[in-house]
This record gives sequence, C-alpha cells and structure tokens, in this order.
Amino acid sequence: MLSIPYPTVHPPTRVLMGPGPSVMEPSVLDAMGRPTLGHLDPAFLEIMDEVRVMLRAVFRTDNDLTMPMSGTGSAGMETVLVNLIEPGDRVLVGICGVFGQRMAEVASRAGAEVVKVEGEWGRALDPDALRKAGGGGLFKALCLVHGETSTGVLQPMEEMRGIADELGALLIMDCVTSLAGVRVEIDSWGVDAAYSGTQKCLSCPPGLAPITLSSRAQDVLSRRKAKVASWYLDLTLIGSYWGEERAYHHTAPINAIYGLHEALRVVLEEGLEQRWARHAASSQHLYEGLGAQGLALRVPTEERLAPLTAVAVPDGVADARVRAALLKDHDLEIGGGLGPMKDNTWRIGLMGAGATKTHAELCLSGLRSVLG
Ligand SMILES: *Cc1c(COP(=O)(O)O)cnc(C)c1O
Repeated sequence: MLSIPYPTVHPPTRVLMGPGPSVMEPSVLDAMGRPTLGHLDPAFLEIMDEVRVMLRAVFRTDNDLTMPMSGTGSAGMETVLVNLIEPGDRVLVGICGVFGQRMAEVASRAGAEVVKVEGEWGRALDPDALRKAGGGGLFKALCLVHGETSTGVLQPMEEMRGIADELGALLIMDCVTSLAGVRVEIDSWGVDAAYSGTQKCLSCPPGLAPITLSSRAQDVLSRRKAKVASWYLDLTLIGSYWGEERAYHHTAPINAIYGLHEALRVVLEEGLEQRWARHAASSQHLYEGLGAQGLALRVPTEERLAPLTAVAVPDGVADARVRAALLKDHDLEIGGGLGPMKDNTWRIGLMGAGATKTHAELCLSGLRSVLG
C-alpha cells in the first residue's frame, strides 16, 4: 500500500478582504457539508426550485430563465455571450477595466464584431461616449460591467436601457461583484441578460454563476440560426434540466447548490436594502480610516463601488511586500492592482459577510501596523 505523505488539508484561517473570494458565511459552509443527493432526487429538485425563486428576488426580476450555471463568474459571462451572440453580430462593449476587456474577448471568441468603447481606468464610462461609438448603427448587444472589480468603479445603469434601445441592442450586464452588495435592479433597469458569481457579495465559495435572461433575450436565443457553440453552457439544454422536463444534461454540483441556497436565504433574511446599506456604511468607515492614515483613493466619491475600494500605494512603498506582511502577520488578504494599476494600487474588498465596520477596522489596523 502506498503511504501518502500528506496529511488531510488544514488551510490557515484568513480574513479574505481582497477582490474575492470574500469572507464566507459560516452557515453556507455548513450547508455544503450536508449529504449529497442524486441530481434527480425529488428532494434535490425542490431545493433547485427554491434557489430559482430566491435568485429572482435577489436579481429583482420575474425572469423565468434565472438559475445558477456550473462554473465561476467567468462561466456566467461566457454563458450569456455564447448563447446570445452569433458569428458576425455587432456588439458594443464598454471597457474601463479588466472585466470589460474580458467581455470583449469572450464576445469576439463567440464570433462577434466587437466595437470597444474605452474609458479611463478608475472612472465610470460616459453614456455619451457609448452613444457616439454606436454612431447611429445597429448592434446585437450592449455589454457593460456594473461593478468593475479591477478598479473599484460602479457604473450607473439607469440611462443604459435607453442607449441600448437606440442601438437596437440587448442590454447585457456583469454584476459579479455588485449583486447583493449594491443595488441591482434587473427588471426596472431593463437589463436583458446578467450574470454573477457566488464568491463576492453572496459570501459563498466560488463555483457557481447565477444568470438571468429576459423574455426578449430568450426570444433571441430561440431564434438562433446556428446551435450554441458551447455544448456545456448551452441554455437550451441546461434550461430543460432546471425547467419542467428535468432532462439530464450534466451532473449538477449538488453541494455547491446547497451553499448557494443558504447564501440566498441569508441575503433575503437580512433584506436587500439593509444589505446594501451595510455595504455602504462599512466602506464609508474604510474611506474615512484610510483618509486618516493619509492614504488616497483611486476613484472619485460618487463613482465608488462599495464592495471594492482601490487605494493608491504611497510612493516609496513596496506594494507586494505590504500585502505579504498583512497575510503573514495578520492573516489578512487584500488584492494588488491589475493592468495600469499593477504595483501601484491595493484593492480592499468589503463583501457580503465581510462588509462590516469590524472588518474595515481589521484592515485599517493591519495597514497601520505594517506601514508604520
Ligand atoms: C470576479 C469577477 C469576474 C470573474 O469571475 P470568476 O469567478 O473569477 O470567474 C467577472 N466580472 C467581475 C466584475 C468580477 O469581479
């Protein structure tokens, strides 16, 4: 018999205050440890139905096609784009960070002719720049990131339905970091397709990507000329498993779905408005504490994304060394910058269960001790 030299895993307990995964909800981890059921067990089918009902409430939508995809947030992005876009479609993508870039890349791999509207990193996109880039032409979709986690910017969405209408386009929104952390209103904002991820403001381990499609988006899907290029992410197939037919497509990640069920219960028990207010209050506390330490924020007040704060690394301070010391001496994780913000920005997450003044304080005192 082979003797395995590795003991079973005992990861250190960290306080996750980076761009995700976030501080986990203990009851979510408990739920994930419960007995695995078969993916067609009537008891599991009931849990799936409850997840769909709760997801609709959290997305603020009546969309029938609302469910979690197997995979992380990027699988949600890919699902929405690969199902709605056909080769040759023109797609307008707003970019002012990594996740806008990723949408453009995925749309282009789905065969779209992508028109990019690039804005400054650390700022929201100007709606007029989108109109102008559209140039009066017609587009299949307008793709926007609601909470740009790479820069800590919240993109206002209220005007976007009107712009999408001018373009004749579906409105597609990335709400991976915004869902359950700041106001997201799928129906009243007229969003046609949106996706999220479990490990940001839902405080659930990574592994599922909640999505929702309006009836208009479902019509586009049903009128496709060609089959969806991805078999695994094909909503016409997976929809039959999550819908009435219960047709086997792929084995659902059963225990991950228990976790999402619990996370959604926790969100709705707290109340969405209360949860958004808690995120806002904890980030306000963080902004003030950072200011008191003489640290500057990258994003103007009115464009900040409460769950993710981008901080300028002071001149002469070694970004990676500070983050390593926080992890080693304080068991606290914050993120570094990406793209033009690499090496000069810290990204501090106050997401889900971690969006508290206590967590903001933990990070502030960790930074004070490492920098001082
Ligand atoms: C994290 C994130 C993603 C990607 O999600 P993964 O779970 O890493 O695949 C996409 N968009 C935004 C805005 C994100 O914050």
